[in-house]
Amino acid sequence: MSEKRLEISQLGEFGLIDRISSQFSLNNRSSLKGIGDDAAVIDAGEDCILLSTDMLVEGIHFDLSYMPVHHLGYKAVAVNVSDIAAMNGKAEQITVSLALSNRFSVEAVDALYKGIKAACENYNVDLVGGDTTTSQSGLIISITAVGRARKEKVAYRNGAKINDIICVTGDLGAAFLGLQVLEREKEVFLTNPQMEPGLDKYEYLVGRQLKPEARTDIVFDLEEAGVRPSSMIDISDGLASELFHISRNAQIGVRIYEDKVPIDNLAFETAIEFKLDPITCALNGGEDYELLFTINKDDQEKIKKHPDIHMIGYIHERKDQNVMITKQGNTVALRAQGWDHFA
Ligand code: ADP
Ligand code: MG
Repeated sequence: MSEKRLEISQLGEFGLIDRISSQFSLNNRSSLKGIGDDAAVIDAGEDCILLSTDMLVEGIHFDLSYMPVHHLGYKAVAVNVSDIAAMNGKAEQITVSLALSNRFSVEAVDALYKGIKAACENYNVDLVGGDTTTSQSGLIISITAVGRARKEKVAYRNGAKINDIICVTGDLGAAFLGLQVLEREKEVFLTNPQMEPGLDKYEYLVGRQLKPEARTDIVFDLEEAGVRPSSMIDISDGLASELFHISRNAQIGVRIYEDKVPIDNLAFETAIEFKLDPITCALNGGEDYELLFTINKDDQEKIKKHPDIHMIGYIHERKDQNVMITKQGNTVALRAQGWDHFA
């Protein structure tokens, strides 16, 4: 008789994390929040220490044939700083761990660290350690970020309350469309190496894919405006997927309006060019690293004039009804496609 074998793809990434997390409990009083948010939260007196880690794997998360290695360094830092921002905190330190194959030269490592340094300077974080080892093929880069926030300021995924307003920053879908453009140009180049890549027109989209920024500015602006988000998450897997996290964690439902979801004009046109639905790109695209958060209705006025914060809907009590009102006025169920690397 053969042993039963459960495939990872049967559980999916989230199922697998749930399975791991159900086998552990937090036993130290200082461990305020473990698995399940953008960062772990550790008691440090009046402040909390925030801790987040992210790994980028060549061939899965990036393709060095179009990702300049210094951009990769910058992005690896930015995505970790973004997870700290998503707790309404400020990143202060990072460690960087690398697995390098002999395909990489010292110059390539220098370029990677040039990007890491630029991000450290931009976000005012200190590189304080890491680990270096070899890999049989490809590059793996894992970054851990440590941040800080006042205890009462920390924004969890589970804090959304009924009637809270749902907000997103920036615009959505552009990073995904930037990736489509890069993939297309790579194909063109592989078939005909004499062709110059036609990227100029798509500069904004490609930039959103190759050099995303963490919205540390929003954390600052919310503080200035005296607004504490009731919940917050960064958009790494796509708006729909993150809305489901907010819904599941707080046991509430979300209702958003299609015409309020911010989509850049070029992203809109490029989606059409690729025969994709722009709103689907915004809902499921991912890698925008914008912030999704909820605020009390009474705080609306305080950030209404912010040019980069968009109110897209509200929280209601029916946790099984996560819906979008389309431009035609139809109510459609949201689907969280996200990115499943095990699919
Ligand atoms: P994010 O997209 O914000 O980086 P993830 O979806 O990667 O978050 O992770 C969700 C949660 O699961 C986080 O709290 C993360 O620390 C935790 N997590 C992910 N992988 C593991 C693992 N292998 N073991 C323990 N915790 C994990
Ligand atoms: Mg996150």
